[in-house]
Amino acid sequence: TESKSVLFTIFGATGDLAKRKLYPSLFRLYKKGELAENFAVIGTARRPWTDDFYRDVVLTSIKDLMKSKSEADNFISHFYYQSHDVGDVAHYVTLKNLGEKLREKYSTQGNQVFFLAMAPQFFGTITEHLKSENILTGEGFERIVIEKPFGTSYDTAKELNDSLTKSFTEEQIFRIDHYLGKEMIQSVSAVRFANPIFESLWNNRHIDNVQITFAESIGVEDRGGYYDTSGALKDMIQNHVLQVLSLIAMEKPEKFDETHIVQEKVKALKAIRKYTADEAQANFIRAQYAAGTFDEENYISYRDEDSVSTTSRTETFAAGKFLIDNERWAGVPFYVRSGKRMTEKGTRINIIFKKDVDNLFAENDETPEQNVLTIYIQPTEGFSLSVNGKAAGQGFHLDPMRLSFRHDSEFLGNSPEAYEKLFLDVLNGDGTNFSHWEEAARAWELIDVIRKTWGSDTSSELPTYKARTMGPQEAFDLLEKDGRTWNWQP
Ligand code: NAD
Repeated sequence: TESKSVLFTIFGATGDLAKRKLYPSLFRLYKKGELAENFAVIGTARRPWTDDFYRDVVLTSIKDLMKSKSEADNFISHFYYQSHDVGDVAHYVTLKNLGEKLREKYSTQGNQVFFLAMAPQFFGTITEHLKSENILTGEGFERIVIEKPFGTSYDTAKELNDSLTKSFTEEQIFRIDHYLGKEMIQSVSAVRFANPIFESLWNNRHIDNVQITFAESIGVEDRGGYYDTSGALKDMIQNHVLQVLSLIAMEKPEKFDETHIVQEKVKALKAIRKYTADEAQANFIRAQYAAGTFDEENYISYRDEDSVSTTSRTETFAAGKFLIDNERWAGVPFYVRSGKRMTEKGTRINIIFKKDVDNLFAENDETPEQNVLTIYIQPTEGFSLSVNGKAAGQGFHLDPMRLSFRHDSEFLGNSPEAYEKLFLDVLNGDGTNFSHWEEAARAWELIDVIRKTWGSDTSSELPTYKARTMGPQEAFDLLEKDGRTWNWQP
């Protein structure tokens, strides 16, 4: 590969996201030769650090990845720190001057990537100043990368987007949804479209229901303050779950590229039924984790977590049913669930195929199990297909078995690599694996109804589930009333 020429500016360079994800990903790109001599990084935040101090921080964040001291030293020599308050205009002038100097020194050809590793309330100010202070020159490519959350409702997301688009076009904005960087999410398309045996069955004639689970075993850790203002619906369902759902549900794109894939995802999202308040109430449930014991470990309840209100009504678990009103999916429920402190960590998609209406083995008292295609996203990646065979031995008995292919996650590494991939996409200007405004907008329209319905209920007791279980009884009832159950196999 040819190495890239680029100047990165990281806003929030002293923060957790920068240290845990950004620096290690940049280093991986450096080790692979994607970044060589013609790149520089300006780190900026409020603290008055020196370049040397900053480089030490970066060094610490990559120490598990470094093979030789000289390689790491060379890498960190490209890092510069500029103390900066994003609300102060004068600081952008300093930033511009430093940028020009580094552009010269590293021949970055005017290419710039801005990473906003800060709270979203600052995004508008930053992007407006980048334009008004002429840090954006239009000479090379200029791209901006932002993390979730993208708004907290349709209105706030729209406001945020309007402020970004005063300085950047949609093509220049890369909204990270790190699940889309995962190998397997991209392979959802491979599983579907490279296997005619699946694609030919991918519709309401053959599929009974689809189940998407994003389970976390951890609680809110030290992010209780943030989480308590968000909750599972906004933190997971609005973005990650609906992204995955749209990939499963979309029509075959005309071409396997950003424009066409996004077009189809947006169409799928638009076909999801927007509920009335009553439908939202009937089809979505929420809960909080209560104290629990698992594997001899005791876990405290959500309301007892640090920085969480003892009377909090924020859900740590949400589950529900989406319906898609188009020819392919009419009548096929898409069940989704996501929560913290669940039994195990696991992101999975289950495609549950229909029962055979005419069971040949009924007289043998044998009922074949429904075929299930499971796509595993994390912590292992791969897929499995459950099929029925004959049990060995005398007599006739069906024996359900699974054809399974799993990558082990150690082989693939974890989230820094997803970030690395996303960074490379940004450098290549490929937005396929990012969330686009039309997707975010539609997802918020769907979520807002649920959010408002729940928000208007300030008194009923919230359902709970014991820590380290698969969620509250209400989530199981949701499927039971449709005559179905959650499929969850190790
Ligand atoms: P953090 O609190 O650790 O870091 C915030 C950074 O912003 C610090 O560098 C701080 O100095 C800087 N900052 C704050 N106010 C400033 C100002 N007025 N002027 C200049 N700099 C200022 O936060 P974080 O955990 O790194 O998260 C950053 C963003 O990414 C947040 O929006 C968060 O929701 C999102 N996010 C973080 C993670 C994660 O893993 N940490 C994951 C997903 C999303």
